[in-house]
Amino acid sequence: MQEYFKRFGGSEFVSCKSIYPQSIINLKKLEKKGLLIPRGEGNSYVEASFSDGSKSVNMSNFNKIINFDKERLIIELETGVTLGKLYNFLLAHDCYISIQPGYPIISIGGCIGANVHGKNPYKDGLFENIVEEMKLLDLKKNKILILNRKKNTTLFDLTLGGIGLTGIILSVKLKVKKIESFYIEKNALQVKSFFHAIDFLNKIKDDYEMFYVWIDLTTNNLEKSDGLLFTGDFKEEKKEKNLMTFKNQRNNDFKFNFYNKFSIKLINKVFKVKENNKKVIDLSSFLFPAVNNNIYFMLFGKSGLVEQQFIIPFGNIDKFLKNLQLLLKKENPLIVLATIKLFKGTQKYLNFRKNGYCITFDYCYDKRSIKFIKSLYKLITEYDGISNIIKDDLVKDKTIKKQYGKHFNEFKKKISDHMSGSIYSSNLSKRIGL
Ligand SMILES: Cc1cc2nc3c(=O)[nH]c(=O)nc-3n(C[C@H](O)[C@H](O)[C@H](O)COP(=O)(O)OP(=O)(O)OC[C@H]3O[C@@H](n4cnc5c(N)ncnc54)[C@H](O)[C@@H]3O)c2cc1C
Repeated sequence: MQEYFKRFGGSEFVSCKSIYPQSIINLKKLEKKGLLIPRGEGNSYVEASFSDGSKSVNMSNFNKIINFDKERLIIELETGVTLGKLYNFLLAHDCYISIQPGYPIISIGGCIGANVHGKNPYKDGLFENIVEEMKLLDLKKNKILILNRKKNTTLFDLTLGGIGLTGIILSVKLKVKKIESFYIEKNALQVKSFFHAIDFLNKIKDDYEMFYVWIDLTTNNLEKSDGLLFTGDFKEEKKEKNLMTFKNQRNNDFKFNFYNKFSIKLINKVFKVKENNKKVIDLSSFLFPAVNNNIYFMLFGKSGLVEQQFIIPFGNIDKFLKNLQLLLKKENPLIVLATIKLFKGTQKYLNFRKNGYCITFDYCYDKRSIKFIKSLYKLITEYDGISNIIKDDLVKDKTIKKQYGKHFNEFKKKISDHMSGSIYSSNLSKRIGL
């Protein structure tokens, strides 16, 4: 069938062929039908699961929980299951998965394809750390392969963060964690400036289960940008449990964009007053803040938003921020949202993993933002940073090749060796030169 797809928060629709297989037999028949790309919930900020030249293989019918081993704390499930569905299932067993991106309508297949991070990548790393084993349909060989840390190890590694280019992941075994409480004590600590946030994160990094910084960057001055450092720890005494309710909020229904310097300043002021306290909240509200803040996305209007996320190595942050300060002054961008997290890990392939500070900026999709984003790529590259390919809709092959260097070449070569002429392609993979 023909469908119109757009990226999360985007406005441009792409007309694509799509298919909704019901079974493995349906999937196996796909082989002879040209270029393909697997699709989870299609809620990426980038065109990762569709392309005008490929058929999107929508995995939403593969949504069963196959087995839960309560002793070993291993759950086996099909990859079309969403994080929200899994959260509610595990709630009944006093368990959860420790690495979850901030939106519940994201499929497990999408979490693997993008090797996502959760609220504390510094401590927990990436999604790969909870993946025990996968079943991958290799359409070239028309075979189902078992991938784990002993069998088909190269393909296992390539598939984690492989943006759908190694085949269709049918099911997965994930490690889950037992927890005492589904409540989080959330605290907000005052941050005086961007520089202060960096120092503060370093000081508290081993003290909390989860933490991140929110910064008000409307001043475009890193010295005069206050914010809040949010911390979260399980509130073990609180025992109630609430099923999460969620619906897809991928919705730019407002005609106009409501964000400008004044409205963002006002919204940020209200946010600071409302959030500057200690409170006990449901775990789902902490993990998935977007659920109760649909209005945030709607206010971007028809033109939508663009997110830019990158890691700057710890040792380069001072020099990077000095230059960022100059760039902000020169270009005066409109940064709607800015957050900082800490990351730990070694770079490999195209995974978003490196020791350093992860900075995320949201912008309105307009000429002014695009100009600033492009200038910022140069700084990120100069200071040995990497852009997150699953978040950044504008980054091109030239920049990615420079930022990822040998890791990019290795990924590309191994993918092509393994696939012997790929049958998988998305607008994202084409844009970044794969
Ligand atoms: C509001 C919001 C908050 C977010 N927060 C975070 C965050 O905190 N951390 C983070 O890391 N990310 C975050 N993301 C990004 C998100 O986690 C990823 O883009 C994720 O991949 C989306 O999952 P999806 O099911 O929508 O996947 P899709 O967009 O459908 O696909 C993503 C990729 O995975 C591949 N894929 C999907 N299913 C399969 C399968 N069965 N087999 C093989 N490949 C497959 C696709 O081909 C594609 O390349 C956020 C996104 C949103 C919208």
